[in-house]
Amino acid sequence: MFRKGGDVTFLVEELRSVFDPRGGYFKKGGKYMPSLVAEIGDAIECHLRMIGMLKDEGLDAHQQALVEEKRAQYEAAVKSAETRDPDDFPEGAQLCGKCHTKAMIQMDGCMTCLNCGESKCG
Ligand SMILES: [Zn+2]
Repeated sequence: MFRKGGDVTFLVEELRSVFDPRGGYFKKGGKYMPSLVAEIGDAIECHLRMIGMLKDEGLDAHQQALVEEKRAQYEAAVKSAETRDPDDFPEGAQLCGKCHTKAMIQMDGCMTCLNCGESKCG
């Protein structure tokens, strides 16, 4: 195969998809090998990477999707922090009976409206 030339990268996948019916083993360093044949595939892959015939694809599609999702979540969080109105009333504020704004909060024992200044003590 190697002497003939051409694309041999498929060999890596072929060999690595061979699973030992007895269940494979762990290599030094904790890397799981499903079979000895798979390890040969792994060695060839390592070599092909070294000589530049195989490019490092990095993360697989599933991991990539996960990363994208996390990044989107992070960006959304940053965005919402940026766009948040600094005059926003605190969460849990109650509706003010005077100006009908949800801005009544407890201050020094009095319900105080952050919008119109209405204050009710007791
Ligand atoms: Zn008010």
